[in-house]
Amino acid sequence: MPELPEVETVRQALAPLLIGEHFTRIITHVPRLRTSLIIADIPQLLHQPVTALYRRAKYLLFELDNGYYLLNHLGMSGSWRLEEADAPLQKHDHAEFLLASGRVLRYHDPRRFGMLEVIPPGMPLAGHSYLQHLGAEPLSDDFTPQTLIQACRNKTKPIKNLLMDNRVVVGVGNIYASEALFLAGIKPQTPAGRIAAGRLKHLHKAIRDVLLAALQAGGTTIRSYSSLNGREGQFARHLWVYGRAGEQCEKCQRAIIKQIKQAGRSSYYCPVCQH
Ligand SMILES: [Zn+2]
Repeated sequence: MPELPEVETVRQALAPLLIGEHFTRIITHVPRLRTSLIIADIPQLLHQPVTALYRRAKYLLFELDNGYYLLNHLGMSGSWRLEEADAPLQKHDHAEFLLASGRVLRYHDPRRFGMLEVIPPGMPLAGHSYLQHLGAEPLSDDFTPQTLIQACRNKTKPIKNLLMDNRVVVGVGNIYASEALFLAGIKPQTPAGRIAAGRLKHLHKAIRDVLLAALQAGGTTIRSYSSLNGREGQFARHLWVYGRAGEQCEKCQRAIIKQIKQAGRSSYYCPVCQH
């Protein structure tokens, strides 16, 4: 599943190619993804320059000159390809945006958990139903050590589950929560309220460090994710614990990485380096 660094990688790749472009025609091949797919019926999306491409949490927001936004979530397996208009359509290409330049932007999503929706002008983005409950952006100044310390106060839920709660901090999914907890030396099942403030400060820094490192590597390519035009993210080779159950820990060189289930998701940790 694409996480924040993957979505940001897509944004950075798409933005320079799309800003200033116009959609001349939108074609959809299925009636719905996670929600109804009605973008082909909205003429206001056509013939308007794309003025910006933003990301909030794992949502991409294409801003058009007339104030309309196209909101996209990649779900479990969504990806974008920008190619020549005569390039053959692939299976699971569900939406096509023909561009004034003659190229075509295609949205591909085998599992169809993604979303493509329209936000009309005049609707404050922060109040949109998908966006209004979102917590701090982890790489912004809004996310401080204090944000994390406050959020953990008196909480009995495991710290890994708290990190993955979008109301606290957005976009820290399964891979990066596991990796940040490893870097901070904190076991994922530790009740959040029992972790001292000093350790939470380390964890705050670890979250940023792991996300920035992943971003620099172009994300982690696992299973269904691929960035624009199929370039692979290189972060998988930097993973300390995620997906490494049964392997020896590369830091302490003695313990074996463990895998447990938390809230239905796999967590990975080193029983020596994390406590
Ligand atoms: Zn270790």
